[in-house]
Amino acid sequence: MNSPTSNQLRHWDRTLVWHAFTQMADYEPLILERGDGCHVFDIDGRRYLDATSSLWCNVHGHRHPRIDAAIREQLDRTAHVSNLGTSNPTTIRLAKRLVDIAPPGLGHVFFSDNGATAVEVALKMAFQYWRQCREPKPDKTCYVAMGEAYHGDTLGAVSVGGMAQFHDTFRPLLFETLRVPVPDAYRLPPGVQKSELLAHSLAALESILVEHHARIAALVIEPLVQAAAGVIVHPAGYLRGVRELTRKYNVLLIADEVAVGFGRTGKMFACEHEGVTPDLLCIAKGLTGGYLPMAATLTTDEIWNAFLGDSSSGRTFYHGHTYGGNPLGAAAAMATLDVFEEERTLEQLPAKIARLGEILERLSQRSHVGHVRQCGLIAAVELVRDRPTREPYAPADLMGRKVCNAALQRGVLLRPLGDVIVIWPPLAISLVQLDEIAQAVECGIIELTDEA
Ligand SMILES: *Cc1c(COP(=O)(O)O)cnc(C)c1O
Repeated sequence: MNSPTSNQLRHWDRTLVWHAFTQMADYEPLILERGDGCHVFDIDGRRYLDATSSLWCNVHGHRHPRIDAAIREQLDRTAHVSNLGTSNPTTIRLAKRLVDIAPPGLGHVFFSDNGATAVEVALKMAFQYWRQCREPKPDKTCYVAMGEAYHGDTLGAVSVGGMAQFHDTFRPLLFETLRVPVPDAYRLPPGVQKSELLAHSLAALESILVEHHARIAALVIEPLVQAAAGVIVHPAGYLRGVRELTRKYNVLLIADEVAVGFGRTGKMFACEHEGVTPDLLCIAKGLTGGYLPMAATLTTDEIWNAFLGDSSSGRTFYHGHTYGGNPLGAAAAMATLDVFEEERTLEQLPAKIARLGEILERLSQRSHVGHVRQCGLIAAVELVRDRPTREPYAPADLMGRKVCNAALQRGVLLRPLGDVIVIWPPLAISLVQLDEIAQAVECGIIELTDEA
């Protein structure tokens, strides 16, 4: 068979491939065939700076020689070993390494293959834990979820999610959750000052826990930043406050670090900023450096022990995925962690985070930029029609998407969340490349908002 032409590929892509989160009626293909460092290349050879990190998972750049070599080496041994009762050295070594770098007290690793499954595993472990812990509390069947959370697209993860646009259709299929408002410094609750936001938010959570704790199995949180909700950055102290309250009311804490783990916030894990150890920690996206689908749910001795017993005791965790703990993924993850050490990735971050802060400061001067937000190497620029009233653009204006398209014409790949322009570059980004991203975003904003 001859290789298809670019036009054939575009046609097949439009008509055969059903893309995730994409309205196929007006889909415009962008077909990338190659990556190199922080750049990606389309089938016509055009080069783009990847300011999305391949949708938030790339860490050290594309085609990193160290990670490429590790996968090839593993390929010479075996591509796959099931983790249903069998094991392999690479995955075992990765488990040891994750336990060593995770917040203290998380000594056990359950592998799966994507972020949503890591959350499903945590939800089910929490549920089963309360049935077979030392003092069983079988009434604990409900979960607390945070406002417009996003934890993935399987039904358990959707149940604890709160993004109306993605999740409302499926409401009839979901299990019960109690929802607490998240602290949002741009759109404050009525009558609340910014200085009162932390105390107000924790009080709102406590009132739910006081009333319902006897039936709550766990609370699920995206630590520090609610990513897909529009990069909502929580006030300092919120995560620690949530940890203290969940402990006080005997509710398990599930930290979903799928987006924020692996250096994204400036530390290896976001929980480290507030000295928090959750009962269950979910990781995925950056785990393999953005190379292969792999995820893990880490947990404590307390939870692990509750599942021990003889095989007829019914205490086994009956959950698994065919590719969970896949050795190729584990090899990529091991190499990703090696690169963190060899290139001192975390030590390079403060300068990049500071530069991103300067960029945001500049963009915030634009008259249609309502708010800018940052946590580590995550940045968000929220566009509004009217700055004083915070009036958004009409959704049909597609302002966020149009600004990103304008940036694409200037060689920078971005993906908006509504009218929030999200800048999420690989940790390997250089200061010069950060400036290139800023330039493209600024030009896009000027072009689309008709602002001089
Ligand atoms: C992306 C994401 C998920 C889902 O991960 P997938 O690998 O896409 O299933 C879960 N939680 C958070 C916070 C995420 O950002």
